[in-house]
Amino acid sequence: MLVDSHCHLDYPDFEEEGVAEIVTRAQSAGVGHFLTICTEISKFPQVLKIAESSPLIHCTVGTHPHHAADAGEVNVTKEELIAFTQHPKVVGIGETGLDYYYDHSPREEQQRIFSTHIEAACETALPLVIHTRDADDDTLRLMRDAGQGKAAGVMHCFSGGPRLAEESLALGFYISFSGILTFKKAEELREVAKMVPMDKVLVETDSPYLAPVPNRGKRNEPSYVVHTARVLAELKGVSPEALAEQTTENFFRLFNKAKE
Ligand SMILES: [Zn+2]
Repeated sequence: MLVDSHCHLDYPDFEEEGVAEIVTRAQSAGVGHFLTICTEISKFPQVLKIAESSPLIHCTVGTHPHHAADAGEVNVTKEELIAFTQHPKVVGIGETGLDYYYDHSPREEQQRIFSTHIEAACETALPLVIHTRDADDDTLRLMRDAGQGKAAGVMHCFSGGPRLAEESLALGFYISFSGILTFKKAEELREVAKMVPMDKVLVETDSPYLAPVPNRGKRNEPSYVVHTARVLAELKGVSPEALAEQTTENFFRLFNKAKE
């Protein structure tokens, strides 16, 4: 069984078909658990409702860096974040982080809200789901400073280089690979994947975005995580079954609240 460790089941792309249908199709493909990721705290109620609709779905709570300066997000306190995590379905904090590629919100706001998330993760001992793009140094610095060696989590949809991977691993973070791993031009990323220890890798779709080959360009969905997992298995020189078993074990070790 595979886990899709990062999807956005509350996005409008899934509305027409409905989450139950998407989950059933994923199960037939061998995907048995789903982590649906919150990107705006103002939309957390819908995310939670989806998690509550099935024992196979858990969720996170947090503000994506794109939304760091939005009205509903900018004033969220550490205490409020922590209060949301008390729900049994909430197994992680995020997605949070820094995105200097798009710069959809001012960098100071991104850093401030990222630090708040890291502090909440330290206090609750819940894993962080981190989005970082073109911001390696600041991401690592904040993980170190605000995290004080206590914060752990996953570098989601990893697309960085070997240095970011090594330093994240050194801080105790896991590395999650998305459909990007299957893209023709992602040679460097496949080299990074080879070097990440087997007990630190996760797979995800980040659906509805980033559909893997052979579905590239289409709407992505959790069942497609099998394609990313197949490529990762080849890179690691293990069978797809062994890869599934290992990444699922990793997922439940990191997001251990999802086991309860
Ligand atoms: Zn995401």
